[in-house]
Amino acid sequence: MSDDHDLERREFIVASLAAVSAPVVLAAGAAAVSAQEAAQPAATGGTVFTGDVIQGKRVLSALDVNDLEPGRHQFYFEGVQGITGQHRYVSVAVAKGAQPGRRVLLTSGVHGDEMSSVRTVQRVMEALDPAAMSGTVTAVFDISGPALEGMARRWPNSGRGVDLIDMNRVWPGDENAPEAPRRHAGLLFNRLLRPNADVAIDFHTVSSGMDGTAFHFADMSHPEVAEMAMLFPVDQIFADTEPYAGTLMNELVAVGIPALTPELGKPRVLDPEMISRFVEGTMNVLKLHGVIQGPMGRTGHDAGVFVAVHGAPVISTHGGFVELLVELREKVEAGQAVAVQYDAFGERIAEYASPVAGEIMARRTDATCEAGTPLMLILFTTEGPADAEEEEAFPE
Ligand SMILES: [Zn+2]
Repeated sequence: MSDDHDLERREFIVASLAAVSAPVVLAAGAAAVSAQEAAQPAATGGTVFTGDVIQGKRVLSALDVNDLEPGRHQFYFEGVQGITGQHRYVSVAVAKGAQPGRRVLLTSGVHGDEMSSVRTVQRVMEALDPAAMSGTVTAVFDISGPALEGMARRWPNSGRGVDLIDMNRVWPGDENAPEAPRRHAGLLFNRLLRPNADVAIDFHTVSSGMDGTAFHFADMSHPEVAEMAMLFPVDQIFADTEPYAGTLMNELVAVGIPALTPELGKPRVLDPEMISRFVEGTMNVLKLHGVIQGPMGRTGHDAGVFVAVHGAPVISTHGGFVELLVELREKVEAGQAVAVQYDAFGERIAEYASPVAGEIMARRTDATCEAGTPLMLILFTTEGPADAEEEEAFPE
């Protein structure tokens, strides 16, 4: 055992020294591990078990669901190493049907403060019966562990002091990157997510300090994405995804895997009503792809979904206390007052008006803000003067 350990250590050190100048050495190291594990019965095809077992669950460093027996499976996926030398392990569940079929990937926890998204994926997995399924559903619950531990959007990376890294800007990652979260993304993308997805859904909520409607980010010009998006009983679809480079959704679509990003309202809490709507939509998507059978539930048509390719942010011009005058999903006219702001003395220092006619998609919940803070985002269908496409005024 200790010999194996020393061998692994040497390989790791050699690989580390050579990583920047010769990434191929890393690949050779990985191949050697694969060869060692090949003696294990389940390590066929693309699946690589490391030999470790954590809390009764086997650890893998690569997954190909085609290698698995029908039924339910739970694993830990070995991500990037943290400062103690332990890996960041990611929780993976697979429900493989008795019959072959499409492979659907469900992910959550790319941001660490978006709890209803995690629970939605859990609820879908609970509801599945592999014996009655055709195809496979793979669930990954906690992609950015360090962010989840802090109930925070970003991963506190210890590279140069603490850098806060947004995991949804680093896809498809890079296994040899000079930054742990990007390596983590590369390991997951190459060895866990991409190889097991014909279609994918990456669940989110809005960010801390905000609240939102039930909506999707989805490219509605992509027929397969649009078909899936409309099967959720959501309030709204924000059909512009272009400014969000490096999102998991966009990078999956870029390699030919139709994907969308549902957004389940508030961060930090479990919202049962919101979760139920998105579980229903996900089950509809599984029915669409023939993975499960049964009548369709409520869809976007039933919910009166509002689809828009434009979003206008209202951004604070001052710091201070903000009173919002509009609710989520409320329709507003161009020029309508939507917020007032006070300074520390209670003096009225600013009034904000909607730049467009549209519908409120998200609004701030924290009462205070600095100058330059998005207070709300308003979806609209015609060209307007303040289009959020120009910058990331509204993080997903
Ligand atoms: Zn998010």
